[in-house]
Amino acid sequence: MEKILVMGCQRTMNSICVACSRCLVAFNRREGAFARYKDKEAEIIGFLGCGDCPGQGVVVRMAQLAQWNAKLGEKPTVIHLGPCLTGHCPYADELVTKIKAKAGCEVVEGAHPYLPENVFA
Ligand code: SF4
Repeated sequence: MEKILVMGCQRTMNSICVACSRCLVAFNRREGAFARYKDKEAEIIGFLGCGDCPGQGVVVRMAQLAQWNAKLGEKPTVIHLGPCLTGHCPYADELVTKIKAKAGCEVVEGAHPYLPENVFA
């Protein structure tokens, strides 16, 4: 059973993205970066924001999640990085490097595929 943690841009998750629904729908449909779980047992165990700009709190946020779920025996086997983090963050390179260095599990750069192509077309 894969246990998936989706990590994203805290500001986007708080103020722009609606209910993290696109990642959830993509996971349920096994689309985008979640296609790798087609016909596999997998569940999402959480969505974690980066800790806000400029991303210095990201490792602390990961450690907080580990503590928060310790008694539940839940920890991620795979981390997916949402497009809100990898695609738009000016600190993305540093953030991704930190997350990969400290995760202790596989880190996949990608999540839902439903990025808008045109706004007014
Ligand atoms: S550091 Fe990047 S990912 Fe985190 S809130 Fe700021 S812009 Fe978003």
